[in-house]
Amino acid sequence: MKNKIKKSEDKWKKNLTPEEFLVIRKKGTEPPFIGKYVHHTKQGTYVCAGCGNILFSSEAKFDSGTGWPSFFTPFLADAVDLKPDSSHGMKRTEVLCKRCGGHLGHVFADGPAPTGLRYCINSVSLRFIEKKD
Ligand code: FE
Repeated sequence: MKNKIKKSEDKWKKNLTPEEFLVIRKKGTEPPFIGKYVHHTKQGTYVCAGCGNILFSSEAKFDSGTGWPSFFTPFLADAVDLKPDSSHGMKRTEVLCKRCGGHLGHVFADGPAPTGLRYCINSVSLRFIEKKD
């Protein structure tokens, strides 16, 4: 990907809300069921709250019942990076924004067709842009 974003953590701290900083830069997790996009069903795109990179389409969003916004595929394969994560005594795969390296959530192999994947993403890491037609 072109135009990767690199900023000091101090700069990120200034550019993000404390809540965003904790999740996006410190790999925190928002509590389940309270995120602003958990039950959000409008048509549009979800971009990175850190850098605006287009991450997910509403067309790939589904209700996983887990309490976090869930998608079966990223907008483009090139939008995200995947990284093994063994923190908190679990073997998981972390999902990061490919442009700014921000933490988005994790991906699991229990999603619906056609991919069988569940990208479990923090609302805090996302910003919604409504489709205007
Ligand atoms: Fe980003």
